[in-house]
Amino acid sequence: MIATEHIDKTNESLFSSMADTNHEQIVFCHDEPTGLKAIIAIHNTVLGPSMGGTRMWHYTNEQDAITDALRLSRGMTLKNSIAGINAGGGKAVIIGDASQIKNETLMRRFGQFVNSLNGKYYTAEDVNMTTRDMEYVHMETPYVTGLPESMGGAGDPSPYTAFGVYMGMKAAAKKAYGSDSLTGKRILVQGAGNVGGYLVDLLAKEAAVVMISDIFENKASSIAQKHNLEIIPPDKVYKTPTEIYSPCALGATINDEMLHLMDCDIIAGAANNQLHDEIHHDQEVSKKGILYAPDFLINGGGITNVYYEYEGNHNKERVLAQVEKIYDTTLKVFKTCEDENTTPQAAAIHLAEKRIKDIGNLKLRN
Ligand code: NAD
Repeated sequence: MIATEHIDKTNESLFSSMADTNHEQIVFCHDEPTGLKAIIAIHNTVLGPSMGGTRMWHYTNEQDAITDALRLSRGMTLKNSIAGINAGGGKAVIIGDASQIKNETLMRRFGQFVNSLNGKYYTAEDVNMTTRDMEYVHMETPYVTGLPESMGGAGDPSPYTAFGVYMGMKAAAKKAYGSDSLTGKRILVQGAGNVGGYLVDLLAKEAAVVMISDIFENKASSIAQKHNLEIIPPDKVYKTPTEIYSPCALGATINDEMLHLMDCDIIAGAANNQLHDEIHHDQEVSKKGILYAPDFLINGGGITNVYYEYEGNHNKERVLAQVEKIYDTTLKVFKTCEDENTTPQAAAIHLAEKRIKDIGNLKLRN
C-alpha cells in the first residue's frame, strides 16, 4: 500500500512536470545484471526523430536525474531547431559513476533499450561518453550517431561544438564592444574537457588572454601548459574579474551566487542549461548588464555534425559552413532583443519555437 501510494505520487508529479515542459515521452530503463539505470526523455519530434547525447553522471538522487533528463531534452529541441536541422529533441541519462560501472555489457544493454524505440530517439556522446561507447551501443542498434570516423561516422563532435561557441562568442563581442575581435580579451574558460580544450585552441590562436579552470587540476594544467595560460582554482572562478566568462563544464552555473560575485561583460559557453532558473536568472543577467549568448543557440555545432552523419551526407566543410552561421543567428537574436526589448534567451526560444510551429503546420498541409 505504501509502495503504491508512493508510485502514484511520483507519477502525478512526473506527469505534471511533463505537462509543464510539454514532453512527449519518458522511458525508464532498468537492468539488474548490468546495473543499468537510465532515463530516455523525448521532448519533441515535430521536426524529426529526437536526437541528443547520452550523459552518465553519479546523480545524488533519482529526481535529479529525471530533472536533468527533462531539462536537457527540452534544450535539445530548441538547439536542433535553431541550428536549422531536421531533428527533434531528446536526451538520455545513465545514473552512476562512469569510472565504476561503465563497461561494454552495460553500454550494449543501453543500446538495446535505444533500439526498442525504433528510431524515435537517436543517441550520441555527452558527458562521460566516448566514441568507443557509441560503438558498443551501435552493436545493438542502428539508432546512434557520433561513431568514430573509422566506422564511417562523423567522429568526435567536440571540435564543432567549440567552433560554434567561438562563433557565438565573437558575435557577442561584436555586440558588446563593436568589434568581433577577441584579441587581448580576458576570457575565463570553466571546464578543461573536450569542448573547453578545442575552444582554448581557437581563442589562443586569436591571442585572447585565456584563463582555464577545472575541478581536476591535471586537466586544467595540461591545457594551461600547452598555451601558457593562468589556471584559476574552481572556488575562485566567480571572484575573478574577466571580460568573457565561458561555462564549458556542467549546467546551472548562472545562479544567485555566481551573479552576486561575477564581474564580466559577456557569458558565452558550451555547457547545456547554464541558467539555473531559466526565467529568473535570465532576467537577473540582463539587469546586471551582462550580455548572455544562450547556450542552445551557440553550442549546436556538435549536434549539427552528428545530424549530417544521420542524414548520410557528412563532410567537414559542410558542417563547418553550417556551424559558422551561428555567428549571424546570434547577431539576429541580439537585434531582436533591441527591437523588442526582450532578453537573448527569450528571443532565441521564440526563434526556435517559431521554426517548430511553422514546419509543423507545413507538414499538416502536406
Ligand atoms: P567533458 O566531460 O569532456 O568536460 C567537462 C569538464 O568540466 C571536465 O574536465 C570536468 O572535470 C570539468 N568540470 C566539471 N565540473 C566542473 C566545475 N565545477 N568547475 C570546473 N570544471 C568542472 O565534457 P565536454 O564534452 O567538454 O562538454 C562540456 C559541456 O558542454 C557539457 O555541459 C556538455 O553537455 C556541453 N556540450 C558538449 C557538447 C560536445 O560536443 N561535447 C555539445 C553541446 C554541449
